[in-house]
Amino acid sequence: MSTVIATRGLAKQYGRVHAVDGIDLDVRAGDVYGFLGANGSGKTTTVRMLLGLVLPTRGEIDLLGERMPRAGRRVLPRVGALIESPAAYGHLSGRENLALLDAAGPGGGRRDRRRRITEVLDQVGLGGVGRRPVKAYSLGMRQRLGLAGALLRRPELLVLDEPTNGLDPQGISEIRELLLDLHRGGTTVFLSSHLLAEVEQLCSRVGVLDRGRLVLQDDLAALTAPTGATVVRTPEPGQVRAVLDGRVAAVDGERVVVRGGDPAEVNALLVRAGVPVTGLAADRPTLEEVVLAAAATSADRVERER
Ligand code: ATP
Repeated sequence: MSTVIATRGLAKQYGRVHAVDGIDLDVRAGDVYGFLGANGSGKTTTVRMLLGLVLPTRGEIDLLGERMPRAGRRVLPRVGALIESPAAYGHLSGRENLALLDAAGPGGGRRDRRRRITEVLDQVGLGGVGRRPVKAYSLGMRQRLGLAGALLRRPELLVLDEPTNGLDPQGISEIRELLLDLHRGGTTVFLSSHLLAEVEQLCSRVGVLDRGRLVLQDDLAALTAPTGATVVRTPEPGQVRAVLDGRVAAVDGERVVVRGGDPAEVNALLVRAGVPVTGLAADRPTLEEVVLAAAATSADRVERER
């Protein structure tokens, strides 16, 4: 699978602040890559470096197989980007704003351009309001207009910094559907977010930034793979302990974690003993648990290095 974004030892220092501290990103064609991190962890700085808007202090960036920022002129037209709140002229309509963006692009007939603008406005759900001035748009509508701008040139790669910022739940789910649609059409998506749930629902691959360091990077399916234990839900955790002597790894209220990954076998034993069971499933870590564990391990390492 070809690599779409690759960085090696990428770092940015502002005075004494190590905003980004030597990260090796690996984003492959066809990924929906979720770049997670708390506020201030360095996500925006990284995205800006990827797009040639900020120069790295150290390290290398390959974007669509070419070295950045040197190859920016060639590569950036193939990348759609949305960073922070998108700028737009308030007195102009959504259509007019997109036409201005498009005018900076490479050719195409007027009619084709107009058709493309109509297409992207429909795609982001602004079809009905494209002629209204942007100053009358809500925050969510502005965000979607920014996304429409990013889509104009049918990019191979979309780079989005917190794309659902300021959107209501309805807007968030519409953007999610849109991104999944684009992904099905072959677009690779790289999005930064501080929302675990958003990344968990949308992404196939995850990178986690913690104080400028990449503490985790893997496929979501691998990160949340079954642990080999079974989770039993029961109002009688004590009875489970008695029946499955020595196999109970943890009890948390009505949730009992049993060693042994065959839920059917565990169920048979409990039913035979007359233990009431209200739920049964293979144990999987949530993305939140995985991220917290990775951050804690990294903090330990930083502590030891001091
Ligand atoms: P947020 O989600 O709040 O935008 P982030 O993860 O995108 O956070 P960055 O904006 O990349 O984080 O900031 C990382 C660190 O670098 C912060 O400590 C920030 O204060 C610092 N920083 C970012 N840009 C600059 C700058 N231009 N000058 C000085 N410090 C900066």
